[in-house]
Amino acid sequence: MSTAPTDIAALIDLMARLPGLGPRSARRAVLHLLKKRSQVMAPLAQAMQSVAASARECLTCGNIGTTDTCDICRSEKRANGQICVVEDVADLWAMERGQQFRGRYHILGGTLSALDAVGPDELRIPRLVDRIAAEAITEVILALGATVDGQTTAHYIADQLAGVTVTSLAQGVPVGGELDYLDDGTISAAFKARRAL
Ligand SMILES: [Zn+2]
Repeated sequence: MSTAPTDIAALIDLMARLPGLGPRSARRAVLHLLKKRSQVMAPLAQAMQSVAASARECLTCGNIGTTDTCDICRSEKRANGQICVVEDVADLWAMERGQQFRGRYHILGGTLSALDAVGPDELRIPRLVDRIAAEAITEVILALGATVDGQTTAHYIADQLAGVTVTSLAQGVPVGGELDYLDDGTISAAFKARRAL
């Protein structure tokens, strides 16, 4: 419980919902914002409002951006016949930080999960199948986490794709590991050592 005035307490409650923040860090963050009102708080509020209004998913790959087609899907330089399939936008950002992959992406938005009743249609898998022919794809690189659901999803996708090489990230990705938590060097090594699935 904070003893802050109502509006400020409401802000603290909202901040406390952010990943990695609890009530205590939310209180500290809000106090910091109040102290840096013109330098941080006002520009932050403005940036949030603008992104909240403009952010949308790329209709092709599911990447987050401010246009219907993201920068990567729009770039002709990235049309090299390769698509890297990742679970989440955070994984795309992690791959981009590794600076190994020069093709395009496909973001599933999760993994198949019997437990959570997530099926192929929830995951943009049909859209991926459509892209293979439409974009003359020759290699699909599955960069999914080494979790049971990640690997189940990888095998399901491999079964759906015909006439295209399907590879998977290899060494360096720890069992049970999620891509976003890996350092850039590990992702680069795993990408270079990808193997046919
Ligand atoms: Zn895109």
